Amino acid sequence: MIIPKGPKLTDEQLEELTRILGDFGCRIQVIEGAVQNIYAILGDERHELLINRIEGLDYIDRVDTIQSPHKLLDARSELKNHKTIFGGIELGKNLLTIAGPCTIDPKNPNLFYETAEALKEVGVHALRGGVWKPRTNPYSYQGDDKALEILMEGASRTGLPVNTEVMDEGQLKLALEAGVNMLQIGTRNALNYSLLRQVGQSIAGKDTVVLLKRGRHIGPINEFISAAEYIVNFGNPNVMLCPRGTLPTLEGYRSHPDESITPLLKEKTWAPVVVDPSHSVGKAMYVEACSMAAIAYGSDGLCIEANIDPSKGLGDDPKQAITPKAFGALRNKCEAIWALRG
Ligand code: PEP
Ligand code: MN
Repeated sequence: MIIPKGPKLTDEQLEELTRILGDFGCRIQVIEGAVQNIYAILGDERHELLINRIEGLDYIDRVDTIQSPHKLLDARSELKNHKTIFGGIELGKNLLTIAGPCTIDPKNPNLFYETAEALKEVGVHALRGGVWKPRTNPYSYQGDDKALEILMEGASRTGLPVNTEVMDEGQLKLALEAGVNMLQIGTRNALNYSLLRQVGQSIAGKDTVVLLKRGRHIGPINEFISAAEYIVNFGNPNVMLCPRGTLPTLEGYRSHPDESITPLLKEKTWAPVVVDPSHSVGKAMYVEACSMAAIAYGSDGLCIEANIDPSKGLGDDPKQAITPKAFGALRNKCEAIWALRG
């Protein structure tokens, strides 16, 4: 990883570096940080002659050769200084909250609009709303392009940024064209490397952010972080890691809650952690406790399913969505824990 002296390289400097790297069979990838660009070396960067030649250039500060399976996401990477900003929140400085229904019902847009307004009133920073849904049962409601319009109308009525899950290239294109601010990669696609690559390529140079859920089959922590590396290595470092519960399920809960991996993630990577308590415990009555635990463990934010009338919602809402009022109360308790954390 090449760290320049200034905030970014000029075109001529970039050309010179590309030429030098080419001599060693390597390529360069610009990673656009909020404060400073850094330049990833694609290929074997450990060649001593290569490092010497690059470090000899007067516009280069140094070359970092971190030995890590996820060198960009590694806690020692220069990207640790990257500031991720979303919903008016700088991640890490204040608690980020994202909330909204599991699924937007295209036949009942008002349910989404009213939920969005009520959540805004209790101070949510961003809205979530499923347009296309990964459903276990092929006969269940699978989503509808029409829900994308409703999601964006909710965004414009409230002025809040929005999150939605994409599962393929077509959905990715539609979501970006519509102006979706945060793309969600769901638990089932957390290791879909072609999708991760497509997302990385499509958001390079944009301020789009990604909420990458932890795959429910993923054990090794490096596998989760490396999935994020797939996205970031195309140039946009705005990825948040989202523990959302794993398999095997814990009897009585939907998944096996995993907010407790937050300190481990924090040790290994600089990427912000945003916990999803809803899919973790899977029942509205447990969501508050799981949210508070997540903040106690060091999470930077929460992504919660909420609906003004959960019983009328589609998908997971009847079981696990909380009301905007419950969300407000939960948020206040989480803020208190955040303050205690110091
Ligand atoms: C969702 O957010 O509604 C969802 C399907 O999430 P996950 O991929 O975590 O199951
Ligand atoms: Mn859901």
